[in-house]
Amino acid sequence: MRWRPWEIEYLEAHAGDGAEAVASHLGRSVNSVQVQASRLRVSLRRSWECPRCGRVVHSPLNGATGWCLKCHAAASRDKAADANRRVRAELQAEESAIADIKRDRQRIYADTHRKRAKLRELRKFRES
Ligand SMILES: [Zn+2]
Repeated sequence: MRWRPWEIEYLEAHAGDGAEAVASHLGRSVNSVQVQASRLRVSLRRSWECPRCGRVVHSPLNGATGWCLKCHAAASRDKAADANRRVRAELQAEESAIADIKRDRQRIYADTHRKRAKLRELRKFRES
């Protein structure tokens, strides 16, 4: 059966879906699609276009994000970096709160020390 122009257009546009998918869509045999692709020098190698970066890749897009391996890895790295920033901020806040308490305690110690010294001085004065 001769290939009609729209079938050739379809093959060229969807070659990346693979021979089986194209054959099934056109109602032709896998062999017929392979022969026609070969004549047109069109690759039937499975390919996917990443909606994030727009690259055509030859491994399936990630099931969760729908992105290529590179975009998915970059997204998980960014997520990890966000978590890292949040934890770092929490840690700094905690350390800062403890430092404030220690500074306050030091101020109280110093004040107590100063008052005791003053008290000793006054008592000595009264006894003399
Ligand atoms: Zn991508």
